Amino acid sequence: MLTNIAKKIFGSRNDRLLKQYRKSVAKINALEEGLQALDDAALQAKTAEFKQRLADGQTLDDILVEAFAVCREASRRVLGMRHFDVQLIGGMVLHNGKIAEMRTGEGKTLVATLAVYLNALSGKGVHVVTVNDYLAARDAATMQPLYNFLGLTVGVILADLQPFDRQNAYGADITYGTNNEFGFDYLRDNMVTDQYDKVQRELNFAVVDEVDSILIDEARTPLIISGQADDNIQLYQVMNTVPAHLVRQETEDGEGDYWVDEKAHQVILSEAGHEHAEQILTQMGLLQENDSLYSAANISLMHHLMAALRAHSLFHKDQHYVIQDGEIVIVDEFTGRLMAGRRWSEGLHQAVEAKEGVDIKRENQTLASITFQNYFRLYTKLSGMTGTADTEAFEFQSIYNLETVIIPTNRPVQRKDFNDQIFRSAEEKFEAVVKDIAECYGRGQPVLVGTTSIENSELVSRLLQQAGLPHNVLNAKEHEREALIVAQAGKVGAITVATNMAGRGTDIVLGGNLKHQIDAIHADAALSDEDKQAKIAGLENGWQAEHDQVMAAGGLHIIGTERHESRRIDNQLRGRAGRQGDPGSSRFYLSFEDPLLRLFALDRAAAILNRLAPERGVAIEHSLLTRQIEGAQRKVEGRNFDMRKQVLEYDDVANDQRKVIYHQRNEILTNQDVSDLAKNIREEIISDLVDLHMPPDTMEEQWEIPALEQQLAAEFRLAADIQGWLKAENTLDNQDIKERLIAQVEQEYAEKVELVGKHAMAGFERNVMLQVIDNQWREHLAAMDYLRQGIHLRSYAQKNPKQEYKREAFAMFENLWQGIKQNIASLLIAVQIERNENVAQETAEHAPTDIQTVHSQAPDMEELLGNSKTDLVTEAFDPNQTADYSADALAAAGIVIHRNDPCPCGSGLKYKQCHGKLS
Ligand code: ADP
Repeated sequence: MLTNIAKKIFGSRNDRLLKQYRKSVAKINALEEGLQALDDAALQAKTAEFKQRLADGQTLDDILVEAFAVCREASRRVLGMRHFDVQLIGGMVLHNGKIAEMRTGEGKTLVATLAVYLNALSGKGVHVVTVNDYLAARDAATMQPLYNFLGLTVGVILADLQPFDRQNAYGADITYGTNNEFGFDYLRDNMVTDQYDKVQRELNFAVVDEVDSILIDEARTPLIISGQADDNIQLYQVMNTVPAHLVRQETEDGEGDYWVDEKAHQVILSEAGHEHAEQILTQMGLLQENDSLYSAANISLMHHLMAALRAHSLFHKDQHYVIQDGEIVIVDEFTGRLMAGRRWSEGLHQAVEAKEGVDIKRENQTLASITFQNYFRLYTKLSGMTGTADTEAFEFQSIYNLETVIIPTNRPVQRKDFNDQIFRSAEEKFEAVVKDIAECYGRGQPVLVGTTSIENSELVSRLLQQAGLPHNVLNAKEHEREALIVAQAGKVGAITVATNMAGRGTDIVLGGNLKHQIDAIHADAALSDEDKQAKIAGLENGWQAEHDQVMAAGGLHIIGTERHESRRIDNQLRGRAGRQGDPGSSRFYLSFEDPLLRLFALDRAAAILNRLAPERGVAIEHSLLTRQIEGAQRKVEGRNFDMRKQVLEYDDVANDQRKVIYHQRNEILTNQDVSDLAKNIREEIISDLVDLHMPPDTMEEQWEIPALEQQLAAEFRLAADIQGWLKAENTLDNQDIKERLIAQVEQEYAEKVELVGKHAMAGFERNVMLQVIDNQWREHLAAMDYLRQGIHLRSYAQKNPKQEYKREAFAMFENLWQGIKQNIASLLIAVQIERNENVAQETAEHAPTDIQTVHSQAPDMEELLGNSKTDLVTEAFDPNQTADYSADALAAAGIVIHRNDPCPCGSGLKYKQCHGKLS
């Protein structure tokens, strides 16, 4: 009832918006004749005119109507496609920072060009975001002639692009790329030590294609840049043997050691299981006699155990992952797509590797991470397009502040969506699926069979083979090859079996994609030009007949072999038929053995089934059942929304911190002169130290002057005779001591600057600051990870984990800042500068001290700390780097590094654990 009212309001708002947009469409249409009369040069000159008008103070909105009209006319000339009126509406929706819901085949790639052209006129860059490299390259290549004609440049970010080319691609007016690449570049940009190594510009405007895939389906896995951490690989192997000794509970409170909560995707140890596990681990020597798994010291053990249990009971081969070249590759459960390079976090990936007996990779330490939600919220303006946003409109609105506008189709939809057919068993279901396919094949009607997993695709394929039906199977493994196959999925009698996402983004033309076939003939070197001509002419003649035949047979038929957890994914599958007013149909086949029905709708559905008691192989179609299934889908959607919100809520804490750190880092990076900042930090830390040992407003008896002197000497290499000062002048107070100490620090510092030169010192200061921030931030991230993983244990102690997390994260962050300043101050104050001729001798003398010393003549110092250091740090994450950090090479360069100092390669490890070990 309530949702109905809301729908009505929502619907009417949609109508109101469309009405407004239509007014602009009329204005754009009115300009068409005039623009058609212009020659190419005059049309192209419009771009410069628009830019000038923007420079003169007009806004993008002021020029929207004209710019859209120009873009449409240019597209007509260059691409042979004239934007339909509804496409103009889509373009305005994008420009307004909303989501355009337009059905498959409505031409969203072309829609984007309008908003992209208009916004690119600002010169601040526009990003077009796609779900894979293939689509990024394809869409950029298709639309580039249009943009170039209009005087705009286009860049594409692909995974294997080098930094220099990346910078160029981002420098273009329009940049195409995938969500992963954009996100990773942002993170990497915040790890550089030279601002000129950054590849991105400001994040101005993004158009996200398939926005639901990117902002919703992929939102549960954050982007992580990681390096290897010290990790106990053996522990995964040993722990892998434990689940076999534990007994799975049949029911939630039944006998046994652990309960597998399939809905929540969690494993829970029972009281008995807990004791049992402790016994086993004690026998294995992993746990001390009488020690508890829940004690703080054993969090890591518990963590490994849970990972092993989850790996064994919840993660299944060929469903959740596949094994490729000895590696575990995650399968996106929503889309069936392989997520190469992504790893499950929290040790789960290693646990699965142990289970499958493949090489276990070391657990990775997070160097930087961000969720897609928080990445895309960084854009000044964000917009998106998809065929299926409506069911998630609330989430788009509440998380991204993105409104969804449903745009009518260019031509009326002809597709027939048949009721679900529900069978008692999976076997009966698949029999019916094959029967339906065979009938289509008999009529020459093309059919696309959607499955939710690679496993099911293979099952359907086997059944089709047995039935002697020729078909193609797509598993979203090779985007390009699959796109070519899908493009021909509309040919007479074509049978295509695909996981949800396979070949997505590629249009299915009834009668087959003529252009692809012609391209193939052109590319065939074995054919003479005449043969080619003849072949193409033959194809063209044949195509119309084939197209008509498919139209007469009912167009493309879609078969769903399972309802997905999310209605949106079902709609995507259905949407592949009936493009641009084509005929088409769809039907879903279900069974009571499907996970969705098993988990959520079983009881009542089974009762209904028994009442209806169909015979073997007979399906039931009942509106009550359909409603129940949709109710189950809604429940899962709600739960998934909660999970994404949870990820986001935890990331929000890190996000605020990340913003502060990145901001500070950026200031240091871009500031020519950080000496003021350095000075402030020195003063602050010295003052803090004085306050610690001689708190203000306390009596002299309470002061700890010798301790203060000692600490100054140890941490800052500062020899201050405070006791002497006090003896000479017994009225000195806390403030006076601070002033004298700071004066001494600054005096000594000035002498050092004198020695090496201001410029070299500035480079040194910057590098010290960046390196300290990066190292400490990295450690902080690891600590935060650890905190998050352990925080759910707090709920045992009746505490709200999220609150606890926030509280502790905040405290940790305050410590982090303090630590960073402390560290910077001590490195800067303690730095020693010597003449080069003394180096050899000094090396020997100073080696045992705990202070990092830098010996150098001025020119060397600049080279060392300015240029070469920068390179080292940017390469820090490449363990195979070639730079020489051996003790000899460093000493020759005039640097002495103690074993406990941070390694100069920037790995964040101590020298002795890194390059010091090697030498
Ligand atoms: P969507 O992404 O919305 O499913 P596509 O961008 O793949 O749709 O476009 C579907 C097909 O329609 C493409 O072959 C495209 O070239 C064609 N198309 C789009 N807009 C037009 C237009 N205005 N005129 C002619 N063809 C168009």
